[in-house]
Amino acid sequence: MSEVLNCDADGCGHVEHVGTITSEHVGAACPKCGANLLTQQDWDAWRPIQALLNMARSQAQSSTDDRAEVRVSLHGDKTSIEITNRKPN
Ligand SMILES: [Zn+2]
Repeated sequence: MSEVLNCDADGCGHVEHVGTITSEHVGAACPKCGANLLTQQDWDAWRPIQALLNMARSQAQSSTDDRAEVRVSLHGDKTSIEITNRKPN
């Protein structure tokens, strides 16, 4: 399972694939438009969610595989999480 940072800047749409979002990503600039991909506020909001996801991962380890992807968008007042399980072909 991998985590993804989405750039929310208008018209950018850059998606940064990271293994795991950590505090080191706070203040990271979008390589495409330079916007902040993860603010301190975003990170503070993300940590408890990540803890829950980690629990879910360990619970579901036997039934899921690493094709699952977590997309997180938590800029400003808006938080959305999308978990995609890619079915093996
Ligand atoms: Zn961007």
